[in-house]
Amino acid sequence: MATTERPESIAADVVVDAAAGARLLAAIRSALPDLRLLDDPVDRESYRNDETAYLQAGLPLAVALPETTVEVSTLVRLAAEHRIPVVPRGAGSGLSGGAAGIEGGLTIALTRMSRVLEIDRANLVVVTQPGILNADLKKAVAAEGLFYAPDPASYEICSIGGNLGTNAGGLCCVKYGQTRDSVLGLEVVLADGRVIRTGGRSIKDVAGYALTHLFVGSQGTLGIITEATLRLHVAPPPRSTMLAFFPSVPAAGRAVAAIIGAGLHPVTLELLDHETILAVDDAFQLGLERDAAAMLLIESDLPAAAATAELAAAVAACEGAEATSIVRAEDPTEADWLRQARRLALRALERQGTVRMEDVGVPRGRVPELLVAIQAAADRHGVRVATFGHAGDGNLHPNFIFEHGDPRAAELTEIVRDEIFAAAIALGGTVTAEHGIGLSRRAALVDQVGADVIDVMRSVKAALDPLGILNPGRVI
Ligand SMILES: Cc1cc2nc3c(=O)[nH]c(=O)nc-3n(C[C@H](O)[C@H](O)[C@H](O)COP(=O)(O)OP(=O)(O)OC[C@H]3O[C@@H](n4cnc5c(N)ncnc54)[C@H](O)[C@@H]3O)c2cc1C
Repeated sequence: MATTERPESIAADVVVDAAAGARLLAAIRSALPDLRLLDDPVDRESYRNDETAYLQAGLPLAVALPETTVEVSTLVRLAAEHRIPVVPRGAGSGLSGGAAGIEGGLTIALTRMSRVLEIDRANLVVVTQPGILNADLKKAVAAEGLFYAPDPASYEICSIGGNLGTNAGGLCCVKYGQTRDSVLGLEVVLADGRVIRTGGRSIKDVAGYALTHLFVGSQGTLGIITEATLRLHVAPPPRSTMLAFFPSVPAAGRAVAAIIGAGLHPVTLELLDHETILAVDDAFQLGLERDAAAMLLIESDLPAAAATAELAAAVAACEGAEATSIVRAEDPTEADWLRQARRLALRALERQGTVRMEDVGVPRGRVPELLVAIQAAADRHGVRVATFGHAGDGNLHPNFIFEHGDPRAAELTEIVRDEIFAAAIALGGTVTAEHGIGLSRRAALVDQVGADVIDVMRSVKAALDPLGILNPGRVI
């Protein structure tokens, strides 16, 4: 990497001073001799990208794998002293390039900080390090009869730190909210290496600005989360599960609006369009209704009689929206299998080519209009699109599918997604409901929120990270 003048603050187009990088590595080795520090090119290469398709990411100078908050704090302080950008990273499953490498920057992967520190049943909270996988945290608390709600479809491959970094959503947000709604307190390493604690175990706490909520979803640009205090629930009963099939995508959208409008609180309200139904059915042999234009997966986690009543009301809403057939899962095993198949929808589509997933959201009553706009944008440019997502949250994932090696894939993806972004904004929605702005949606953020809001965000960033050390060029 060419050496250039060192900037006052590391800007969006990050150019890193190679000599400063070498000095930083020497300082890290001297201050933290026991730290696992990867500087081999092959190792570093595996930290270049996250799961975002068509992204130009940089090769990190090195990858640090700290085990303690003190190590994270020392790393950040040294990086600041040497003006080397830092990329906080969890499991690297992100879909916005937030954890992708910066050429010559230091990636700090939190995967070795993966211990559950305390399960506090009396207060229904768990205190955990950020590197634990979401699925492992769920398992740990389930062993105590407790339930940690946030469940991104990627829950087996993503970390709690990454979930906090992105304010991850998932299949049961419709009832339990996004990751932010489960966070009570954090320990955060700031851009100069100081360590602060926000919040605690109290459910109600209005002391000062809501810093906990500010850090959640900030994609590693304001601080590195080294510990989190998260809300739990007593484990709900096994879920009751049904599928409803529809003759058109807007009909399924109308059913979603009817279910929400009826005041139901299903724990899952997921939509799959025709292309996704076929891909999932081909991949997992589920016996789905292959002629259907759309399908809803609807679940209740209420106790038996209440679940029966909730699903009966959902059936009425689906029938009112012209559902062609409705089936109930035979037992919890079949329900688990259907839910798992939905979680693997992206992988099923990836069997057919290169897939770029998007993440738009709208007020829930406008889901039918968003579905129409997605298909229209794809049709205008002859792009194959398969849409699924968390319809109960108004959050849909259009997936653009191209043959492997198609030279126009990246360009067409940009064109179609820009039109879909514009449609989502026009419907009063958002260009990203859960995956984050990261690196891949920065221009769209301006279109959605406008210059004044960007200005306020820049002020927040400058106050917390005046040198621009933390994940520069991401989000704003
Ligand atoms: C098949 C598939 C399905 C998915 N389904 C969903 C879904 O249903 N819902 C959803 O929301 N997402 C989903 N995702 C996206 C992704 O899994 C989530 O964004 C997840 O939260 C990322 O976690 P991670 O540990 O992989 O984080 P990474 O990708 O490593 O990092 C994500 C962001 O968080 C920051 N970060 C990581 N750790 C920390 C930390 N300790 N402190 C501060 N910042 C940090 C990073 O800098 C980065 O900006 C899916 C991805 C895939 C591949």
